[in-house]
Amino acid sequence: MGEVEGCPFHELEWAQIRVWVAVVVAVVIGAVSALGFWKGMQTKERKGKRAPVVGGGGESGEVGGLDAIVVGAGVAGSALAYTLGKDGRRVLVLERDLSEPDRIVGELLQPGGYLKLLELGLKDCLEGIDAQRVVGYALFKGGKDAKVGYPLEGYGDDIAGRSFHNGRFIQKMREKAGTLPQVKLEQGTVLGLVEEEGVVKGVRYRTPDGEEHEAKAPLTFVCDGCFSNLRRKLCEPKVDVPSCFVGLVLENCELPHTSHGHVVLADPSPILLYPISSTEVRCLVDVPGQKVPSITNGDMAKHLRTVVAPQLPEQIKASFLAAIEKGNIRSMPNRTMPALPKPTPGALLMGDAFNMRHPLTGGGMTVALSDIVLLRDMLRPLRNFHDAESLCDYLQAFYTRRKPVAATINTLAGALYKVFCDSPDLAMKEMRQACFDYLSIGGVFSSGPVALLSGLNPRPLSLVVHFFAVAVYGVGRLLIPFPSPGKIWIGARLIRGASNIIFPIIKAEGVRQMFFPNMVPAYYKTPPPEA
Ligand SMILES: Cc1cc2nc3c(=O)[nH]c(=O)nc-3n(C[C@H](O)[C@H](O)[C@H](O)COP(=O)(O)OP(=O)(O)OC[C@H]3O[C@@H](n4cnc5c(N)ncnc54)[C@H](O)[C@@H]3O)c2cc1C
Repeated sequence: MGEVEGCPFHELEWAQIRVWVAVVVAVVIGAVSALGFWKGMQTKERKGKRAPVVGGGGESGEVGGLDAIVVGAGVAGSALAYTLGKDGRRVLVLERDLSEPDRIVGELLQPGGYLKLLELGLKDCLEGIDAQRVVGYALFKGGKDAKVGYPLEGYGDDIAGRSFHNGRFIQKMREKAGTLPQVKLEQGTVLGLVEEEGVVKGVRYRTPDGEEHEAKAPLTFVCDGCFSNLRRKLCEPKVDVPSCFVGLVLENCELPHTSHGHVVLADPSPILLYPISSTEVRCLVDVPGQKVPSITNGDMAKHLRTVVAPQLPEQIKASFLAAIEKGNIRSMPNRTMPALPKPTPGALLMGDAFNMRHPLTGGGMTVALSDIVLLRDMLRPLRNFHDAESLCDYLQAFYTRRKPVAATINTLAGALYKVFCDSPDLAMKEMRQACFDYLSIGGVFSSGPVALLSGLNPRPLSLVVHFFAVAVYGVGRLLIPFPSPGKIWIGARLIRGASNIIFPIIKAEGVRQMFFPNMVPAYYKTPPPEA
């Protein structure tokens, strides 16, 4: 009986033991799973595989939150969003208009830009859009022409420039970025940056239904293009508009040199032609200054018919005149702006919002893509973008490391535009002719400058050497075989004119950053240790 009476006591003891064992087992299992989960998250972050973003704009660091916001899905924004997404970052892209753009910009990608597109894994965005291969330029001046090929030897058959409808290319890039689960593309116009104590925390934006929202992320990339409304806080926008491009599409026009961009050194300024599909040729007529003749009252058509058409190669004239008759004449200001960032924690400018050059040499997309490759490589070692201050400090290196490539392409564009414009100054006329003749010589005299222009070998020193070689060649043409005091005087003015063209551009770009970037301390910034 005693044992029977003792039974409840033993049962109580066993019950307590069972509870304690259950608690200990639960704690151990919980700890092991938590450790596994944490490790897994770390590995996932390192491998760049993250959960798909469901909604826009969670708080950074929270599950389902964003790593970055990209404002604008043009060339820069789309390529950047894809790159960040591929590296496992959760990205919200806000684009004010997700329908296919119809613009006269960004239609010729230089071979250097094409190489960057390959590096970013975006090559297939040029497939299925009837993009055309471009292997060099043809120059026309005073009834003569010269072909200048890209120095593509050793690069493989696929490498060349590409020309296309900008809108088709952009749409492909947006689609490609949108295929990544980490990237969410949303239509919305960004109204402003959200700032807290000097740190950009995200953006305010309006969706097409008129509602205003806020999205937050540790890093906001502002890629809202040449008319950027947001850049004022992030850089010193010293914008200049030296000229405008007037654009027409010539249909069923056979260019004198297939697979070449054509540059006509016309009066008062150059005309560009290149294929944008198998049946269409883009013609961009430069009009110096900020005002173009009115398109609506017919002044523009008259200007194109009477001033421009007579200067075009014979073979192009008929389709040019037909394009004028058809209408659809568009114009776009050609803006230049050196990169003068105001480093701001939590935000970074990219693309045309950050830096612009004259579009004569078609370098904008090449610079934007080259910047994205550099930035991608700099951001890759970072686990997250949370420490805005340290990240901002680290990204100072980006501004320095991009300089040699970006500044070379920018300087060449600005200098070549000035040289290619007709001038009442006899010395500058000589410089223009010297440039045409120099490029016509062939060999290193054409491959050197074209390697710079195409982004294949954008080295600042090579740029300066070729620029002054053209000037010296111009002086030589003047003085040989019969120098005279008058010719010596023109020669001296030519050298002075050349210096006046190139040195202010180089000064605006930053001499030390351009030529000696590794003498700038910022070049050596390393990733923040905590990141
Ligand atoms: C006439 C002309 C011809 C050119 N030709 C060439 C060429 O042949 N080759 C070349 O390499 N470069 C060329 N360029 C330069 C080239 O077009 C630019 O360098 C390039 O388009 C820059 O890309 P981006 O992404 O910075 O800007 P964009 O391509 O302009 O994209 C900006 C995007 O931001 C969006 N956006 C703007 N504001 C907001 C907002 N508030 N909220 C949300 N979204 C917003 C816009 O809708 C747009 O989609 C040319 C430029 C001009 C002016």
